[in-house]
Amino acid sequence: MGASTDPTLALACDLIRRPSLTPDDAGCQDVLIQRLQALDFTIQHLPYGEVSNFWAQRGKARPLLVLAGHTDVVPAGPLEHWHSPPFEPTVRAGYLYGRGAADMKGSLAAMITACERLITAEPDHQGSIGFLVTSDEEGPALDGTARVVEWLQGQGVIIDACLLGEPSSHQQLGDAVRNGRRGSLSGCLEIQGVQGHVAYPQQVRNPIHAAGAIIDALASEIWDQGNAFFPPTSFQISNIHAGTGADNVVPDRIEIQFNFRFCTESTVDALQTRTQQLIDAGLAPAELRSGQHFSHRLQWRLAGRPFVSTPGRLATAVSSAVNHECGYCPELSTAGGTSDGRFIAPTGAEVIELGPVNASIHQVNERVAVADLCTLSRVYEHILRTMVCCEPAS
Ligand SMILES: [Zn+2]
Repeated sequence: MGASTDPTLALACDLIRRPSLTPDDAGCQDVLIQRLQALDFTIQHLPYGEVSNFWAQRGKARPLLVLAGHTDVVPAGPLEHWHSPPFEPTVRAGYLYGRGAADMKGSLAAMITACERLITAEPDHQGSIGFLVTSDEEGPALDGTARVVEWLQGQGVIIDACLLGEPSSHQQLGDAVRNGRRGSLSGCLEIQGVQGHVAYPQQVRNPIHAAGAIIDALASEIWDQGNAFFPPTSFQISNIHAGTGADNVVPDRIEIQFNFRFCTESTVDALQTRTQQLIDAGLAPAELRSGQHFSHRLQWRLAGRPFVSTPGRLATAVSSAVNHECGYCPELSTAGGTSDGRFIAPTGAEVIELGPVNASIHQVNERVAVADLCTLSRVYEHILRTMVCCEPAS
């Protein structure tokens, strides 16, 4: 079979051709639904607000293995830097180019073709298979997977294991899979002072000077030690704004933006409380020195809580599938940004992310190796077979 007729490649191209910028699904889900209906999946459309989602299920028996993913993509970015148009799938030198090729229309295509082969061979598989697909993973993710999981819980559906198609691989397909992600917590600290002429220090209150000790304290704090699955929580300042531009004026405020990538050893509460303590302690010397009070304001935004899924039956199935198809075993990792796994793991499901090499995701000229698409489909098929066709391990 030539590359041009490979069903996974053909389906990936069909999906890439639809410019599904978050939350617009642009018809991608209809394509997937048609294929799943042909396999006797029961479909539930679950739109919330502007977001398209669907749930598909084949069989009722446990274990239930869910294949999950998103049809939405991030914007193309500067078109002049693409070597072929982002929404015209193009194969060059063994790679399929197009927005969403790696994140994650290629994975969705591989999941569908894997199911088609498996169900043709094993129409009476013992466990059941679910599909959870959203068009809002790259955006605010409020009306996507989180809402579908809520709905599933209302229906009494218990997910035993969930395979997410996020591009987890570093150098080679399947060299890394994820069983968790760090949380992301952003903060903005504003310290108010009193503006004035630099030549009259007794008439000003300099918020930049007051910030010095705080920055030092926050940057040198050890928040936790990490654990077996996570590196220690990290704190980074991303932006500092202060000053009027004139070199003879003390400004009246400074704004400091920062972000925590935190692990399961720290809670949101603990990070916020400790940050507040360090700010108060940092301001104290400046207030003592000047005999003046600096008021401040601290605002928080939680982008995602950390999650970790203890490796179980799915991790074993993933590892043996990758080993069988690729000849090496994947490394378990919790690297990367946030993912929809954070909504699924709290239900008690074992969650593993396995998808293409992530080197080009969200960039111009996003790509996936055509050979990897076929291999990924076989890896998914192998995992499906292990999870739903054999007696569950006791
Ligand atoms: Zn993604």
